[in-house]
Amino acid sequence: MLVVEDDHALRGVLLRGLREEGFDAAPAQDGASALRLAVEGFDALVLDVGLPDADGRDVCQALRANGYLAPVVFLTAHHTITDRLSGFSAGGDDYLAKPFHLAELAARLRAALRRAGPKAPVVAGDLVLDPVRFTCTAAGRPVELTPTEFRLLAALIASAGGLVQRRELVRAGWLEGARVTDNTLDQYLSRLRRKLRTAGSALTVTTSRGMGHRLL
Ligand code: CA
Repeated sequence: MLVVEDDHALRGVLLRGLREEGFDAAPAQDGASALRLAVEGFDALVLDVGLPDADGRDVCQALRANGYLAPVVFLTAHHTITDRLSGFSAGGDDYLAKPFHLAELAARLRAALRRAGPKAPVVAGDLVLDPVRFTCTAAGRPVELTPTEFRLLAALIASAGGLVQRRELVRAGWLEGARVTDNTLDQYLSRLRRKLRTAGSALTVTTSRGMGHRLL
């Protein structure tokens, strides 16, 4: 498998540990080399979310858009439910928050390899999100979304009509540590509303002042 992690020490620990667990493991240290190497026939990808040149979820999304089907297990510094869901909506198979035990990573990799197969689309009302092809339709009509818009919508859908706090949306949509102002998030959400309306969806993104947003 390919292990994509920019932290030199952690990468070494991962490679040694996975080899001890019986895996063949090769290293990559950034998103660009991950994109280049992943297509060389690895059975699985261990992918850090916070890479120096890219968000690991964008890397996964790009690979999936090109038909890459091998299991992807994300590593991240966060561990909220929204983080997990945004990882899944980016086409990931599993998600592990740092710090973790190597035995757990190995077990999850084995399970992901066993389960590897087509992923089902996510449905909410008249919306259908395809996490493999990264397409979205509203009542059968295509909605063209940017990767960030796709992740925001996936996080809203994942809460099943429940409120999603603004900081959770920022975490779902952007790179770890990215500076996202209130204004930026509002702009993305209003673009998302416009696209859903234009496509004829009965759903929209509502705002509860000081609380968060939901898809209703
Ligand atoms: Ca990192």
